Amino acid sequence: MEPTTSLASPEFRNLLDQCVHCGLCLPACPTYAVLQTEMDSPRGRIQLMHAAADGRIDTNGAFAEHIELCLGCRACETACPSGVQYGLLFETARAAIAEESTTITPLERGVRWLALRQMLPHRDRLRFVARLMRVYQATGLSKFVRHLSFLPPSLRAMENLLPPLSLRFPNYSKPAPAIGKKRGTVAFLYGCVQDAFLTDVNTSTVRVLQRNGYEVHFPQLQTCCGAAALHIGEGQLARDLARQNIDAFGDRGYDAIINNAGGCGATLKEYAHLLADDPAYAERAKQFVAKLQDINEFLADHLHTPPTGSLNVRVTYVDSCHLRHGQKVVRQPRQLLKSIPGLTFVELQKPDMCCGSAGVYNIMQSETAEQVLDAKMADVAGTGATIVVTTNTGCHMQLIHGVQKKGLKAEVVHLVELLDRAYQISE
Ligand code: SF4
Ligand code: SF4
Repeated sequence: MEPTTSLASPEFRNLLDQCVHCGLCLPACPTYAVLQTEMDSPRGRIQLMHAAADGRIDTNGAFAEHIELCLGCRACETACPSGVQYGLLFETARAAIAEESTTITPLERGVRWLALRQMLPHRDRLRFVARLMRVYQATGLSKFVRHLSFLPPSLRAMENLLPPLSLRFPNYSKPAPAIGKKRGTVAFLYGCVQDAFLTDVNTSTVRVLQRNGYEVHFPQLQTCCGAAALHIGEGQLARDLARQNIDAFGDRGYDAIINNAGGCGATLKEYAHLLADDPAYAERAKQFVAKLQDINEFLADHLHTPPTGSLNVRVTYVDSCHLRHGQKVVRQPRQLLKSIPGLTFVELQKPDMCCGSAGVYNIMQSETAEQVLDAKMADVAGTGATIVVTTNTGCHMQLIHGVQKKGLKAEVVHLVELLDRAYQISE
């Protein structure tokens, strides 16, 4: 079902009616765990959606407050025995808030316009900002700003999340050739924030694909996947970005389209739903989704040349919610980690719980995000791991912040970076 902005539509009501209010999803919900209020649980939010659909409440006030406190992590979807599609309900509720709310200030609308339309879809602009931020970090200004007590919470959150930046960006102007025997041709969706702010992740992704015999192409027209837009209810913009990506990647005979960020992948896999009512794109969207694979999914089946270099490290893995709950990719990253010789893998106590990143949640709802992060970091600390592995841009930045905050002696990396290291040791 395409997300509709109409809370009163029969499709939305049918989705709501699948909930039998059993409450079995409550223990899985990170906001319920830290806030302990029914309205901040999946069942409570579904009740609010019922009330808004019936016209008993409007989309301002309590409705907006509790829906905006939802991480959209979809852990409740995994836990629900009745198959409630909470992700679709959430997107529709967010879209209704974005359209009808009177609480969004002109300043907020301006920031959204700038971020969603003027920055994220433009790789060169994001790289320019990353360069500026690198200079900001190099001058030591960052350490000074961190200690300013009057910094607004959202700016403080952004400052906390800034990872160590690089001035070297990958070159996507021509395909990267396969190393050794060529086994196929894949296209790489390099993302927006990942490309500019976590450059080594993309460099490693390409190298690991090359080492396994794949020629890697970089379609030039590609753009942001639309996840951030969708998450805050800008469905129309998300659909426009989806069309551009389908035009960029479509009909070119690639064996697969690869992405390496769980949050982006969950949105990319929704393209067929998003464009179901668009006659020009509905079929092409299905073909796009059929070719799309998260890097973990792809490598789990196509690790033709496993790494032989030994990494004697203790590692834990933090699932991206959108990879685990949204895409149901759970086994593959663990399988890949265990393929690295010498590595000791330690599972978290609660691997299904969110880290509090959730798109721009850690900037917009920084106080609750910090509480969710604290719970996650206590779990991470309990593993004694010196390397924390994740597979999503937002989680990666959030965990770097969490490691610093908790004072852990641990490094945060994407899984492909660890594979890449093992290959380099093999040489
Ligand atoms: S969402 Fe599912 S698990 Fe949660 S209360 Fe409704 S039916 Fe029960
Ligand atoms: S999406 Fe996550 S935060 Fe939101 S209700 Fe479901 S479990 Fe709770």
